[in-house]
Amino acid sequence: MKIWDSIIVGGGHNGLACAAYLARAGMDVLVLEKAAKEGGASVTEEPWAGYQVSSAAYVVSLMPERIVEELELKKYGYDVKTLDPDYWVPYPDGSHLSLWNDAERTAESIRKLSKADADAFLKFDEYFSRVANLMRDLLFVIPPNLSFSEIPSAIRVAAKLRHWTRKDIAEVVRLFSISGADFLDEWFEDDRVKGALGTQTILGAWCGPMSPGSAYVLLHHWIGQVNGVAGAWGWARGGMGAVSRAIGDSARARGAEIRVGAPVRRVLIQGGRTTGVELSDGEIIHARQVISSAHPSTTYLDLIGSENLDSEVVHKIKRYKTRSGTVKVNMGLSELPKPTAWDGDTPGDPHTGIFAISPSLEYLERAWDDAKYGRASAEPYLEGVFPTAFQPDLAPSGKHIALFYTQFGPFELSNGSWETERKAYGDRIVKIMEDYCPGFSQSVEHVEVLAPPDLESRFGLIGGNIMQGEMSVDQMFSFRPIPDYGDYRSPIHGVYLCGSGTHPGGGVSGIPARNCAQVVLKDRRRSKLRFWQS
Ligand SMILES: Cc1cc2nc3c(=O)[nH]c(=O)nc-3n(C[C@H](O)[C@H](O)[C@H](O)COP(=O)(O)OP(=O)(O)OC[C@H]3O[C@@H](n4cnc5c(N)ncnc54)[C@H](O)[C@@H]3O)c2cc1C
Repeated sequence: MKIWDSIIVGGGHNGLACAAYLARAGMDVLVLEKAAKEGGASVTEEPWAGYQVSSAAYVVSLMPERIVEELELKKYGYDVKTLDPDYWVPYPDGSHLSLWNDAERTAESIRKLSKADADAFLKFDEYFSRVANLMRDLLFVIPPNLSFSEIPSAIRVAAKLRHWTRKDIAEVVRLFSISGADFLDEWFEDDRVKGALGTQTILGAWCGPMSPGSAYVLLHHWIGQVNGVAGAWGWARGGMGAVSRAIGDSARARGAEIRVGAPVRRVLIQGGRTTGVELSDGEIIHARQVISSAHPSTTYLDLIGSENLDSEVVHKIKRYKTRSGTVKVNMGLSELPKPTAWDGDTPGDPHTGIFAISPSLEYLERAWDDAKYGRASAEPYLEGVFPTAFQPDLAPSGKHIALFYTQFGPFELSNGSWETERKAYGDRIVKIMEDYCPGFSQSVEHVEVLAPPDLESRFGLIGGNIMQGEMSVDQMFSFRPIPDYGDYRSPIHGVYLCGSGTHPGGGVSGIPARNCAQVVLKDRRRSKLRFWQS
């Protein structure tokens, strides 16, 4: 009977990265993915003949160079171009703002709208970059659980943060608790500038820019780096599926086996420890460790099963928050949009940066107001990328792709259902684009609307939350996904979690996977030592 060292449930990018790290350390690893294709939410699909669409995730921002190098991803096709401008934001008055990777250049763009804000931006960039750097110190840390036995780990973490000053700590605590709007109001005066910078206070979050805690959401998106540029976004050649493919190929090259179309029904448990998994078709596969990259609610409640957990743990995982207002709208176009606020070339800055409709913080908050009461936003926030501006061969000759990430559409609608709302919501996105880019509606040839229930059923993202669970302070670091199990371990011996529902959370980064692999390898070394000592 074959006994694998490790089975990884879920072949999303984190499952694949964990497999690559464990295989690199010499372990015998099998990945089991229920979908027909690996990649999870970081995937390239073909919804219409000849169109290669990044159905869910659409840009790279959180993938650290360290992981790219350790897994040799470039050798396996990882090729990311930095988006510059970062964001391109048009306004109803015909003006626009470009946020560039270079702070001086962004300040020059802001100066056309407000001289005071241009000066403030340079100081803001310096301040925020410093805080983002502090947060980067935490990315590769294994969060200690809050118990006496973990005091040595807590001391090791504290030692890593010894350069944090009291002022730094106060600022981080403040950013975790205040709203993005309060924070931006401290720095800027022009509504348009605040609207453009405020887009990231709501990305992936179930809150508006005026909700407490949204300042951290902004910071989370500044932590990223692309090709060494802090806070940047990047386009992956071949779409986001190419990122997962590179990670998968890296895992395969190190000896890992990846099976798709292999849904795991449950984790097998005997005497409080795992012995492997059972697939939906009844096949039993044995392993010493089972590492799940599936959503934490799925892992705890479906795969481990509440009957194998104590009631306190069941209570904690049942209150894990995983709500979402994300609706992804993918389109096939006959031509790139021509914004009124742009008189340059096509493709130009609006097409090679992230095109965002966010004229003010109030606009974003009103979009959220609708969602709070169970309505899809009448005027949603939208940001779009046009991959064919970088790589024309992703669509048939002369055609284009637009990927719109939008908010808000609640999972459950207070009136009606997504069966009818899907089309109406897609039409609203087309209408907003038409307002800023006359002629846009005639260019639309295909539309795919993925509402939260679709994100749940297609990618296993419960509640449609793109991060496998909300990134609120009560669900971060040692508390992600639940208190006492923030260190990638679970209450069952040999069962670990390595997906975005663990520290440091969502985004295509591979960091939870890398951290988890370290914990698995450490536990393995310890158990071998115990074996030799006994
Ligand atoms: C619409 C949308 C837009 C996004 N945009 C971006 C972006 O631009 N940039 C960015 O960095 N991030 C983005 N994200 C977030 C990012 O995609 C996710 O945080 C990340 O891909 C999650 O990766 P993961 O490996 O942790 O989990 P997942 O990708 O969720 O993978 C988990 C895998 O487990 C599988 N699985 C579940 N249950 C089982 C089972 N029982 N048996 C076998 N397999 C199982 C699932 O099928 C899935 O493949 C976006 C997400 C969405 C949905």
